[in-house]
Amino acid sequence: MVTVAPLDLLDFDSLLTDEERDVRALVRRVADDRVRPSVADWYFDGTTPVRDLALEFGKLGLLGMHLTGYGCAGSSAVAYGLTCMELEAADSGVRSLVSVQGSLAMYALWKFGSPEQKQRWLPGMAAGELIGCFGLTEPDHGSDPANMSTRARRDGDDWVLDGGKMWITNAPLADVAVIWARADEGVVGFAVPTDTPGFAAREIKNKMSLRASSTGEITLTGVRLPAAAQLPEARGLKAPLACLTEARFGIIWGALGAARDCLATAIDYATTREQFGRPIGGFQLTQAKLADMALELQKGFLLALHLGRLRDSAGGLRPEQVSVGKLNNVREAIKIARQCRTILGGNGISGEYPIMRHANNLESVLTYEGTSEIHQLVIGQKLTGLNAFAS
Ligand SMILES: Cc1cc2nc3c(=O)[nH]c(=O)nc-3n(C[C@H](O)[C@H](O)[C@H](O)COP(=O)(O)OP(=O)(O)OC[C@H]3O[C@@H](n4cnc5c(N)ncnc54)[C@H](O)[C@@H]3O)c2cc1C
Repeated sequence: MVTVAPLDLLDFDSLLTDEERDVRALVRRVADDRVRPSVADWYFDGTTPVRDLALEFGKLGLLGMHLTGYGCAGSSAVAYGLTCMELEAADSGVRSLVSVQGSLAMYALWKFGSPEQKQRWLPGMAAGELIGCFGLTEPDHGSDPANMSTRARRDGDDWVLDGGKMWITNAPLADVAVIWARADEGVVGFAVPTDTPGFAAREIKNKMSLRASSTGEITLTGVRLPAAAQLPEARGLKAPLACLTEARFGIIWGALGAARDCLATAIDYATTREQFGRPIGGFQLTQAKLADMALELQKGFLLALHLGRLRDSAGGLRPEQVSVGKLNNVREAIKIARQCRTILGGNGISGEYPIMRHANNLESVLTYEGTSEIHQLVIGQKLTGLNAFAS
């Protein structure tokens, strides 16, 4: 385990409540005990015990922890953010499991589901006994979900879904898939039990990133669902976009966890590795790298905390504020990971150290939940009043 205390240059800890520090300590311990010792093997082999982890995280109340009722912990946004940070300090894939379960699948059901749907799915998902996934992206429509091809048509009292979803975290092992589709009335959402005939999910192989996470491609072939499977409160594309805003909040914190782990590893290495007769951390060029990275990390923490406090306030967070956080913190995190890699020289590419794994993982984090370019467009639209998305 690497030391993280010296990285707190600005006494960030003093800005947290006792309860927030306790949650962080608990999750850090779980990540240290349960994830860190094995995650490099899971990553290499592409085999992560997702169900076992979900059950353990469920017992600790980490799944859907910022939601209320149905067995959810009702934690603050900051406590949830710190949880994401500690999990992602171990591995982005493990944090993705918790984000997708809690902020995408559970949130969609919690916010837009019927009372029956909530009762059917949420307690089991909070306990980690049931796994959920969230299918918005398609093979031909990623950044532009408004043009999705998946169709939902009414047939008597039923709905019939046809189409496909791509890059869906947890899909191969999910019990329930939240699926977004286009109907005559616009975008609609469904809670689809994955054993419904016509639903299939295959594991996407050969990933070079987020290998300690299960990612799937879903095909929907005449999937017949009762009317009760539709999420009644989800009307239009703003419903899945609201779920993405939830999940992006966790990423703002999580990415810093990966960056922190890289920087802590690089500092450990730089103070022990000797070249030219002295530790490489004693060279001014190395110190400049470390100082610049520490600066960005601290700024990222402060940004995450500010957004967390806003989210916990009555006013909440606006989507463009979440875009500021996601754009900055993931972009800086991946820069930190790449710079830390250089400090470890040849060892930087070795799986014996976590840095290359974090750097590779952050490539996915940079892309999912809105690419950097999409967040630049969200911010640009707010600044100019001009919508650069529309053709
Ligand atoms: C490991 C992993 C897990 C994922 N998990 C999920 C999940 O659980 N559920 C889910 O629904 N999706 C998931 N995704 C999908 C992810 O959200 C999409 O990959 C992402 O939205 C980008 O879509 P795309 O891959 O189709 O890229 P595209 O949309 O084709 O974009 C390609 C490039 O073009 C740029 N671009 C696109 N439009 C514009 C524009 N207007 N202006 C400037 N640049 C533009 C993009 O920024 C990007 O650089 C996951 C992805 C990965 C890699």
